[in-house]
This record gives sequence, structure tokens and C-alpha cells, in this order.
Amino acid sequence: MYLNDQTCVVTGSSRGIGRGIAEDLAEHGANVVVNYRSSEDEARDVVETIEEMDGGEAVAVQADVAKHDEVLEMREAVVDEFGPPDVLINNAGITIDKKFEHMTREDWQTVIDVNLGGVFNCTDAFYDDIQHAENGRLINISSVVGQQGNIGQANYATTKSGLFGFTRTLALELAHTGSTANCVAPGFVRTDMLDEVPERVQEKILRNIPLDRFATVEDIACIVRFVAGEESSYMTGQVLGVNGGMEW
Ligand code: NAP
Repeated sequence: MYLNDQTCVVTGSSRGIGRGIAEDLAEHGANVVVNYRSSEDEARDVVETIEEMDGGEAVAVQADVAKHDEVLEMREAVVDEFGPPDVLINNAGITIDKKFEHMTREDWQTVIDVNLGGVFNCTDAFYDDIQHAENGRLINISSVVGQQGNIGQANYATTKSGLFGFTRTLALELAHTGSTANCVAPGFVRTDMLDEVPERVQEKILRNIPLDRFATVEDIACIVRFVAGEESSYMTGQVLGVNGGMEW
């Protein structure tokens, strides 16, 4: 299988895109760490689904990515279960949407702490594992919103465009090891996060998607799988837009 013998940590994989990525990677042979913050039942369900497949193994590990100590404990649990991982997918993310004039300092900081602070904490914890792995991969899940901006998402868009500079820099710093760092920037994907967007706003977004549909989690997971595997080894520092043809 494409990802045999790879161990992949997928942050925020109890639901949504992360779940889709975790299940897809396991189906293609990877051992997968299903990280979650509070959705324990959902995370266990992902593990059970993976156990029923003829692929890799899975373990659920609770950690709030915004908390450095919890992330370091997660790494210990991962190493105990599977040994040092090869691939980190920084997927966990949140939104607190408000127009800027209504956005509080707390709304701003909370999103920064998870979407960027979490990326720092996880990359810091797994950096040595990635650089020493034969096919080390750092994959950051950004968003078309980081490329285009979006009304009501100043905090979120800032975190998602911040990942471009972070990814590019890590790609340069990791290059001498042969490990890579890339961003996948989805468009709008059918998950709980999109469900929070009012129906009339969803209709407006849809009118701007040339392929005339929202993405499925599978549309994103198959691209992440390619980046996670050996065949992407000459690609680093890139942003892969998976957005149905939205301009930016
Ligand atoms: P989602 O359905 O809301 O799921 C979010 C996941 O992240 C859940 O598993 C959640 O676990 C986890 N999570 C949230 N905060 C966490 C924390 N502090 N520590 C650990 N886990 C945490 O979101 P999604 O739509 O799948 O989005 C996943 C990623 O894709 C995000 O980075 C998002 O920005 C990005 N993205 C989404 C879209 C979209 O249209 N949906 C488009 C572009 C990019 P718990 O339930 O346990 O908290």
C-alpha cells in the first residue's frame, strides 16, 4: 500500500476533514494517530472504523493543540504506540466569525492560539521525528480564506495566511534532511465548520465556485495522501489549492 510503514499524526481528526484524512491514510496502509480535544466518542468511532478496514492501525489521543504540555504528552503516547512518527498533519482549527468592528481581543486571540499556536506546538513536538524520518512530511491545512480573505473572518484568515510563511520557512529549514513541508488549502468543505455559516452566505459562496459544488472531505483527503507519501518527495514549500477553481 502507498503508505505502508508510515505513521501519521492528524490533529483534529475526530470530525470533518481531519477524520476524512485519518480514514483515508489508514485505508492506504498508514498507522494513524487520531487527535481530538473534546469529541472522545467521535474519535473512538474513527478508530473503530479504521480497525474494520484492511489497512493500518489507529489510536485516539486527546490533546488540546493550543496547550504545549498536552501536545508533548501526546508525542509520548504516539512514540509508545507506534514509535517516532513520519508525518504530521496540522489540521485542527476553529473559527469565531464576526465582522472586525465586533471582534474582541479574546475572539482574535482564541483563534490565533489554536490555529497558529497549535501549529507551533505540534511542529515543535514532532520536528525531530519529521527531520529524521526517511519520508518526513509536515502538512499544514490552510484555507482559500487565507488566500482571499473573507468577511467576518479577520482572525481566521490571518491564521490561515500565516501558514504560508510558516510552511515556506520550514520547507527551507528541513530541505537538507530530505523531509518536506507543504500546505493544502481547501476551498469550502461540507463539515460542521461550514454548517455554522448561514444558508444565505453558503448560497453566495457557491455562486463563486466554478465547479459548482462544495468539496467533500474525500476531495481533500486524497490530495493529503499524495503529499504524505513517497511520490511527492520533490515537492516542498508549496500551497496546493483544492477549491473547485475559486480565483484568488
Ligand atoms: P470541524 O468539522 O469543525 O472539525 C474540527 C476538528 O478539529 C475536530 O476534530 C476538533 O476536535 C478539532 N479541534 C478543534 N480545536 C482543537 C484543539 N484545540 N485541539 C485539538 N483538536 C481540536 O472543522 P473542519 O471543517 O474539518 O476543518 C478542519 C481544518 O480544515 C481546519 O484547520 C479548517 O480551518 C480547515 N478548513 C476547513 C474548511 C471547511 O470549509 N470546512 C475549508 C478550508 C480549510 P473536537 O471536536 O474534539 O474539538
